[in-house]
Amino acid sequence: MPSWVECDAGHRAGKCRLVAAYIAEHGSGPACRRQACGAAVQYIMTYHYPRKGTPSYRVVHVARLYDDPQAEHQAFDPMLFALRNLHTREMRLLPFYWTRNPSGRWHVGQFPPLLSVSNLAALIASLPDPVRVKVLQGRRRKSPLLKKLLNIGVHLLPEP
Ligand SMILES: [Zn+2]
Repeated sequence: MPSWVECDAGHRAGKCRLVAAYIAEHGSGPACRRQACGAAVQYIMTYHYPRKGTPSYRVVHVARLYDDPQAEHQAFDPMLFALRNLHTREMRLLPFYWTRNPSGRWHVGQFPPLLSVSNLAALIASLPDPVRVKVLQGRRRKSPLLKKLLNIGVHLLPEP
């Protein structure tokens, strides 16, 4: 799952976690800091699926469970990413997190974050309206994950 942050002009643009936090707060990436550039910074991820290729995604929205001080205190920074496939334009949701490693640096979690049901509901509820609408549409189409969550009595979202 290689991932990186770069501006529209192709300049590498720092740390993924900081860009994710910026997207969570501002709805899009920061401006590139290279002199005379200022292009929008994008957060890109690729996933390799055997026999299915290696699609690339742009992180288009980030819902964050904690703010910076809470994440520092917990040494855990769980988020929910909405990704758009750069080729098909399909949207995907990805639970994601950083944690402090033994040397005290933020490190990408290697497996999906362990979330309570209320944590997951809070993250989905924090997504911007257009993405929540897509999740609701998925629920109407009986998305297996959402159906399971709803079957155990989770009220993720208000009815539209
Ligand atoms: Zn740039």
